[in-house]
Amino acid sequence: MSSASKPLIAEDTYMKADTSSAVSPTFGSRYLTEPLPRNTIPEKSMDPKAAYHLIHDELQLQGNPVLNMATFCTSVMDEECNRLISENLGVNYIDTEVYRGNLEIQNRCVNILINLFNAPEPEKAWGIECIGSSEALILAMLTHKRRWQEKRKAEGKPYDKPNIVLGNDVHLTWVKGAIFLEVEQRMIPLHPDRFTINAEEVMEQVDENTIMVVGVLGTSYTFDYDPIKEINDALVDLKNRTGLDVPLHVDGASGAFIAPFLNPEIEWDFRLEQVRTINASGHKYGLVYPGIGWAIWRDEKDIPKSLVTETNVLGFVERSFSLNFSRGGAMILAQYYNFIRLGREGYTRIQNAMRENARYLAKGIAEIGKFDVLNGGEFTPSCISKLKDESRYNAADLVAALAQKGWTIPAFSLPANADHVNVMRMNVREQFSRDMADILIGDIKQAIDKLETTHSKPHGTLGTHHH
Ligand SMILES: *Cc1c(COP(=O)(O)O)cnc(C)c1O
Repeated sequence: MSSASKPLIAEDTYMKADTSSAVSPTFGSRYLTEPLPRNTIPEKSMDPKAAYHLIHDELQLQGNPVLNMATFCTSVMDEECNRLISENLGVNYIDTEVYRGNLEIQNRCVNILINLFNAPEPEKAWGIECIGSSEALILAMLTHKRRWQEKRKAEGKPYDKPNIVLGNDVHLTWVKGAIFLEVEQRMIPLHPDRFTINAEEVMEQVDENTIMVVGVLGTSYTFDYDPIKEINDALVDLKNRTGLDVPLHVDGASGAFIAPFLNPEIEWDFRLEQVRTINASGHKYGLVYPGIGWAIWRDEKDIPKSLVTETNVLGFVERSFSLNFSRGGAMILAQYYNFIRLGREGYTRIQNAMRENARYLAKGIAEIGKFDVLNGGEFTPSCISKLKDESRYNAADLVAALAQKGWTIPAFSLPANADHVNVMRMNVREQFSRDMADILIGDIKQAIDKLETTHSKPHGTLGTHHH
């Protein structure tokens, strides 16, 4: 075949793009003086440098991740890990026959977590990588619901009114999960001056239709730990007295990666008999970028076979129990990178440094004299405080003033029945240094001085909760 004169790629497969971009520098490109297409795909192509800069520069207007005290999520990793991630951006997690290495590494991460969470019989436990704790806890809820239904059916009992028992301190995702899976929420209100639930309140709600009880290790509101052991002991007692075996799930989205390193003496995990499932967010204190969470079952038998599906579309038999099919696999590698790179030593050091800085921040805030500190980094790297006097300005006014300095700090009222309490929540993460704590304390003092001279009544409104 003689095709020497034929170009390898037909010329017209290239779009006749912005010819000006070939001769003009990126910032001289016509795209910088014309509006960008927002609603329809443009007819013509664009120079890649111009496309990059247009998007990159527009994003400079959004919040700075280093100054974001609102999030629990990771925004910095090692350069070496960044390289590993970019080398594997094209890896599809579901294609386990092709990307065997990725699957193998996922399994190692699961095993590490099974052991970190002290499963008494690790060989019986099972786990899976998820997009975040949200997918993880919905999968856990699904297994508890189905197991309860199958058991009730077999016993000839009604199985149409499943409920979960949880506190008003749970994350929104639990509400979402219960709505999606049509499970009644037995939501325990918070105490006006205690922002977690207790065993007694839980036991008042539990009955034969309870598919699971939820305890939170690190609530989204005050970062406190629910008394998981107390709740477990009450459920064990119920089981011994009545035979009613109600599983306990621990939402360890943030705490499951903190407690094992900073407070290994706290019993919250599979050391406790009724704890059957745990979720954890790799992208929070697992110190990986957003896009990874973990669901772990104490015993694989707790996942009903009726929920596991099979497909052969990839050319092999794939058994799967997850919501997604295709997804990126790179964050699994990043999680494993952290496990082997940091080890227990590194995780402990980083978590401890964060908590020390949170305690320092809390001390500085307390010393201003205007705040009650509700959580000054007792167990977790957090500083939750409330203004003593909100007659002239409130927490929303204060965080608005701090936003002018670049800080993102959430102010909100706690869930009922503690909704009279307005808090400012600051999560301390890796990039928040002692030096930045000093800068923030100084900025808070300045903001308060200004509010005291300019405000005679509060202006800001605080978000409320609709659990
Ligand atoms: C963040 C969080 C969630 C949701 O987890 P994602 O990883 O963001 O999906 C659930 N529960 C608690 C306690 C959380 O802090």
